[in-house]
Amino acid sequence: MSTLIDTLRRIVGAPHVLTDGDLSAWELDWRRRERGKALAVVRPGNTGEVAAVVRACAAAGTAIVPQGGNTGLAVGSTPDLSGTQVVLSLTRMAAVRALDRDNLTMTVEAGCILQNVQDAADKAGLLFPLSLAAEGSCTIGGNLGTNAGGTQVVRYGNARDLCLGLEVVTPQGEVWNGLKGLRKDNTGYDLRNLFIGSEGTLGIITAATLKLYPKPAAQLTAWAAVPSMEHAVALLGLAHQHLGAGLTGFEVMGRFALGLVHKHMPQLRVPFIDQEDVPYGVLLENSDSESEDHARARFEALLETAFEAGCVTDAVVAENLTQAHNLWHIRESIPLAQAEEGLNIKHDISVPISRIPAFVEYADAMMAREIPGVRLVNFGHLGDGNLHYNVQAPVDGDPKVFLREQEENVNHLVYEAVAQFGGSFSAEHGIGALKVDKLEKYQSPTALAMMRAIKAALDPQGIMNPGRVLGTAPAMPAAP
Ligand code: FAD
Repeated sequence: MSTLIDTLRRIVGAPHVLTDGDLSAWELDWRRRERGKALAVVRPGNTGEVAAVVRACAAAGTAIVPQGGNTGLAVGSTPDLSGTQVVLSLTRMAAVRALDRDNLTMTVEAGCILQNVQDAADKAGLLFPLSLAAEGSCTIGGNLGTNAGGTQVVRYGNARDLCLGLEVVTPQGEVWNGLKGLRKDNTGYDLRNLFIGSEGTLGIITAATLKLYPKPAAQLTAWAAVPSMEHAVALLGLAHQHLGAGLTGFEVMGRFALGLVHKHMPQLRVPFIDQEDVPYGVLLENSDSESEDHARARFEALLETAFEAGCVTDAVVAENLTQAHNLWHIRESIPLAQAEEGLNIKHDISVPISRIPAFVEYADAMMAREIPGVRLVNFGHLGDGNLHYNVQAPVDGDPKVFLREQEENVNHLVYEAVAQFGGSFSAEHGIGALKVDKLEKYQSPTALAMMRAIKAALDPQGIMNPGRVLGTAPAMPAAP
């Protein structure tokens, strides 16, 4: 192996091949639940170096784990425990290569931090709308690798919808330049969309051409108290009607989830938390292309209709950006408040929006029946049919024991309910190493066979992120 390490040092420079010392930033997953052991962490500085690293690893039959910001929530970006995998970190490749105002595109390297992409667009008077709580450290390569969602999907779509082209290093170490930036290009199979969401199992994204949008003239945020999940879905329908493409955010938060924020972060003032009969809060964002007055008038018209229809019992519209930021901060603090309350079991599910009220009613009753005292932390991107239907141990239980004894059972109960309602057990976060068995269970055999055929065709040696998404396929011998 020292020959491979020497080769890697020659390619990227010795300081960029890490083999000892504290490597936990690359070896430990974001939730700190899984720690692997890397043969080396390699940090190439350009696409040519990535290609040379991949060729060297392929020749040695050594597996590669592509890594961006290591904020993924499915254990896809850290090595296994074998000590034989190379972590290929893209974070040195963080340049903005080009910005084309007329084409409304920007080409960035894969290691560019999402917030820096947003800032570069902003500086040019434009908008890159992908937004999620990890944006200060996740990278565009990881966003595309996982097809990340976030808070603006209801208007702009997932990372996939925001990408027009990719540059990819294949598992053979060849470079595919697909950075055309075209909005129309029907020339054969859609390779770009194959790599997006493949979680580093088919190749390494080294750069991407991203879609930009005009910046809205005004952005307003409102918080509504709604009497039930049915009413939340009805409010979503009204918001689509009234705001059209102006609806850029629609988040739902259950009372228990908000209660945890109120309890653990008392400095954050959760609207309507003292009204015991408010089971859900909804956060709405309206981005307007005309003016703040126009935005406010449309919001008021929407809320008036929603009050009359009984969908909303109370509401506040943020007066300024600080208030809007504070409302979003409450929503984004739910995972932290949950962590303060103790260990918990997280889910990232989606169900057709029309079926969400029935799903929640069914799942809540089923969980209460099967695991008495269980506490449900239900919140998420309702505008996309995506809920984080999380489960907290009963108040008198030991969370560690609960997790050890109940995690499998809880996952089984939730995912069976999701399947029954025609949903997905992984809406945003992907499969990684965490949900390989769930993919086997819930994906159709035909779909799995096609996925395996694609993997075998593109990565016959099985060196790209093995054990992720499809589990470990028997590796073929190293290339001569
Ligand atoms: P990593 O964690 O480094 O990698 C993730 C996966 O992508 C791995 O399989 C890795 O091998 C692969 N990968 C990384 N870089 C490349 C590359 N260049 N080429 C090929 N494959 C690559 N996700 C959402 O979708 N929506 C959310 O709202 C959301 N909120 C979050 C909030 C918090 C606080 C945290 C910690 C995470 C959240 N996530 C969310 C999950 C995570 O931030 C996203 O999955 C993000 O897109 C991962 O980016 P990353 O650079 O950290 O990727």
